[in-house]
Amino acid sequence: MGFDFSTLHDPALPQVVMPECPAAQKLRGQKALVTGGSSGIGKGVALGLAEAGADVVVNYHSGAEEGEAVAEAIRRSGVRAYAHGCDVSEEDQVEALFARMQEEFGRIDILVANAGMQKDAPFDEMTLAQWNAVIKVNLTGQFLCARAAVRAFKKRGVVPGVSSSAGKIICMSSVHDVIPWAGHVNYAASKGGISLMMKSIAQEVAPYRIRVNAICPGAIRTPINEEAWRTPEAYGELMKLVPYKRIGEAEDIARAAVWLASDDADYVTGLSLYVDGGMTLYPGFETGG
Ligand code: NAD
Repeated sequence: MGFDFSTLHDPALPQVVMPECPAAQKLRGQKALVTGGSSGIGKGVALGLAEAGADVVVNYHSGAEEGEAVAEAIRRSGVRAYAHGCDVSEEDQVEALFARMQEEFGRIDILVANAGMQKDAPFDEMTLAQWNAVIKVNLTGQFLCARAAVRAFKKRGVVPGVSSSAGKIICMSSVHDVIPWAGHVNYAASKGGISLMMKSIAQEVAPYRIRVNAICPGAIRTPINEEAWRTPEAYGELMKLVPYKRIGEAEDIARAAVWLASDDADYVTGLSLYVDGGMTLYPGFETGG
C-alpha cells in the first residue's frame, strides 16, 4: 500500500505494530487445511488459498479422484498440496488428518471447516438418522476440526514472519444460521449451532491470538443445491430471494476466505460474514413490502 498509515498514529500513545500486507500472495508460506475440498465451495476455497500462496491439504470424503485432481491443480500452480480422505465426523480420523499435516507440512496456520451435507425432509417425516447425520457432519465435524486446530495453534503460538495470528479458523456456515428453513430443520439447526460455537470459541481463544470467523454463503452454484439453479425456471425462482440478481460462485466465497485468513483481517474475530447477494436483507420487502 502506497500510503504510510503510521502518520495517522498519535506518537504520544503506545504504538501498535501493524502487520504488513503485501498486495498479492498474502498467504505465502502458510499451511492451510480445507475440509470437503474436493468439490463446490471447498474446491474454490482450496484453489483461492493456493493462489494467495498457501500450501493446502485438500480433505475429501467420498470423492478421492476429485480430491486428488484439486491437489494436482494446486501443485501445478507452484505450491505444495496433497489430498487426504477422512470423515470429519469421526474423531480418530480427524486426529489422523491433523497428525499427517503436522508430519508433511510441519504446522497448520489456516483451517477452513467447510465439509457439510443436507438430508432434507418435512419435519414430521424427518428420521432420527437424518437428524443425526447432518448434526454429526455439519456441527460435530466442525467442532472436532476446530478443536484439533486450536490445540495445534496454542502449542505453537505466533510464528513471526508468517502471520500476526497464531492461527485462523474459518467455519463455513450459511445464511440459514439466521434464516429459518422449512423442510431443512436439521441443516438450519446445524448452521445456527455453528454460529454460537464459532463466536464462543473466538471469545475463548482470542487471547492466544487465534482468530475464528464464519462465512455465511447465500445461494452458491455447487452440487449441493443443483436443483435450485439447473433450469431457467428454478433459477428465476431463486432470484426472487437474491436482491443482487445473480447466483454466487465458489470464487465469491474463496475471496472472502482469503481475506479472513490474511493479516488484512488481523483485527477481525467472531464475525459471521454474509456473502449472499443480499439474501439476508428480507428480499420480500424489495418493492416496499
Ligand atoms: P458440496 O456438496 O459440493 O460440498 C460439500 C463437501 O463436503 C463435499 O466435498 C463432501 O464430500 C464433503 N463432505 C460431506 N460429508 C463429509 C464428511 N463426513 N467428511 C468430510 N467431508 C464431507 O456443497 P457446497 O455447496 O460446496 O458446500 C460446502 C459448504 O458450504 C457446506 O458446509 C454447505 O453447508 C455450505 N453452504 C453452501 C451453500 C450453497 O449455496 N452451495 C450455501 C450455504 C452454505
